[in-house]
Amino acid sequence: MARKISILNVGGHPKDAIMYAGGTLAKHAANGDRVCTLTPTHGLSHHGRALDDYKKGKQVDLGALIEERKQELIEAAAELGVTDVRFLGHDDDVVLPREEIIEEIADVIGDVRPDIIITHWPYDTVAAHANAAQMTLLAMEAASCIRPGKAAPHGVHQVYFHVIQGRTNHRENYRPVNPTTVVDVTDVIDKKAAAMNRFRSQYYGGDGSLQRKLGEMMDGGIHAVHARVPYAEAFVADKPELHPLLPLSEYDLQMSAKTEPEQYEHMTQMLI
Ligand SMILES: [Zn+2]
Repeated sequence: MARKISILNVGGHPKDAIMYAGGTLAKHAANGDRVCTLTPTHGLSHHGRALDDYKKGKQVDLGALIEERKQELIEAAAELGVTDVRFLGHDDDVVLPREEIIEEIADVIGDVRPDIIITHWPYDTVAAHANAAQMTLLAMEAASCIRPGKAAPHGVHQVYFHVIQGRTNHRENYRPVNPTTVVDVTDVIDKKAAAMNRFRSQYYGGDGSLQRKLGEMMDGGIHAVHARVPYAEAFVADKPELHPLLPLSEYDLQMSAKTEPEQYEHMTQMLI
């Protein structure tokens, strides 16, 4: 039996771990792997419903809004079987790499000791995404060093960056558009949909139409189509993997063994 691994997801905003990698996290949790999500910010500045309350001139309770966003992610992660949900609670109005935050992320790496970190593309044009990723890369280096009074040094084996764009502006075109790694999340897409619908502050929930639209577009998009599966999450691995021989995915071979009509019938299922 393959050894169990440890995975840490670092997302810029509370919803990001679920939106970009929730299916993958759910599958690893079900596999008995250690899964932890870390959000350096509290997400207050992007509380969608509160932003609209301001437009209407309503009073808002900032502490309650922060707690609401935190609770939403805890509940969403629980839908996916993920219970280790951590926050650093920093503001997300202006997110810049700060030594204090980098040290705090390094502390979490020292504790969780991830084999794999999942995070945003480090040049994502959403500042909170890019800076969360940049700080994570710096924290990885710090965590691998001797830190007096802290956990023993730990080296992270691999980093997977999200392929899906944060925004669709021209600067985002510098992001690699082709993933190195695609995870079939079809069998957990219902769980992911239920998790996304926990983010009521961001207008998910209700009849689920926002979740369905984004879910079909992002998870059911071009990477899933080319993999001939209904839903997939796509990543770019940071470094080439070492193998004794050229690797070939058994799962990929199994899926490719289907006839073309069988592949299309499988791929075109609309499950959310
Ligand atoms: Zn985000």
